[in-house]
Amino acid sequence: MPFYTYRPRDSQQCCEYCRNEFEIVQLIREDALQICPECGNEVVRLIFPAKQSTEVSTKKLLSDDNIRKHGFKKLVNAGGGKFDEVV
Ligand SMILES: [Zn+2]
Repeated sequence: MPFYTYRPRDSQQCCEYCRNEFEIVQLIREDALQICPECGNEVVRLIFPAKQSTEVSTKKLLSDDNIRKHGFKKLVNAGGGKFDEVV
């Protein structure tokens, strides 16, 4: 279930709970909270940009060039407990 982050609409009117933003789990079909469940003051839901797919960037990160550039080694299991260094 998704987490939603809220912060007080008016930072002068808030409580310990909502002062520094709080997260709650809500169903997607649930309406956004209008008020803080602790103090009843108005809160607003923060909208975060959708997470971008990590598939492409992971491929790029683990490319041989990138591994070499950052001083890492890539070992391939050659079987029999031996590993060949390919980068
Ligand atoms: Zn509050």
